[in-house]
Amino acid sequence: MRLKIVVIQIVLLVLHACATVPLTGRQQLSLVANPEIITMATQQYQQVLKEGKLSDNQEQTQMVKRVGTRIKGAVEQYMTGAGLSSQLEGFNWEFNLIQDDKTANAWCMPGGKVAFYTGILPVCKDENGVAVVMGHEVAHAIANHGRERMSQGLIENGLLSSLSAAIGQNPTMTSQIFMQAIGAGAGIGMLKFSREQESEADHIGLIFLAKAGYDPNEAPKFWDRMVAVSKTAAPPEFLSTHPSDQSRITALKGWIPEAMKYYKK
Ligand SMILES: [Zn+2]
Repeated sequence: MRLKIVVIQIVLLVLHACATVPLTGRQQLSLVANPEIITMATQQYQQVLKEGKLSDNQEQTQMVKRVGTRIKGAVEQYMTGAGLSSQLEGFNWEFNLIQDDKTANAWCMPGGKVAFYTGILPVCKDENGVAVVMGHEVAHAIANHGRERMSQGLIENGLLSSLSAAIGQNPTMTSQIFMQAIGAGAGIGMLKFSREQESEADHIGLIFLAKAGYDPNEAPKFWDRMVAVSKTAAPPEFLSTHPSDQSRITALKGWIPEAMKYYKK
């Protein structure tokens, strides 16, 4: 009997707790409010910046900030045009380049907190390559993939409530779910998203980078370079969460005509 009630609660909850991903229209689970996640993510981000060392290469730092700012502009323009600007509530964008040549990695936490590590710049090759990675990572945040993961984690652990209520019920478990959801557990900021979320971020990211004035045709070339470095002795950390293979590249190429409609020179 009790199980039946719980099942009914879950069904009702899931029905009421859905969000729609911008651009793709996919329905996703959303149990947690963005501002709650963003507050926690911001604390994690400050921690990363405190423990890491920012690059003192002004040229590269400015490039990362410039690409980030242009993509942020494209995102805001798109979301405003689509009547979705409320979804950016609580976002406080930041783009930083961390000095770490051995780490070929980049990520964006919920709320628009972006970190690039200097080790990924050779794979990016140039500013357009940085935009490919930036577009993809920002797309994860705009599509609320961390929130989706966190909502799934709460359900799997039987915490069927808002984040603050879940913290009240079981603070340790809730914080673990959060750390896993934004990837702050192992290898800070790195999150292993599902294949579906990865593909969605490729798709959305391509449109944002085109809208920001970067050439979407460069995206498959970046992933080609990722495939090439994956065969080296020390494959980049980015690869452990971003499997780079031919099917990924083929899918990306399929979205280029759509992205070209947004491409402004
Ligand atoms: Zn990704």
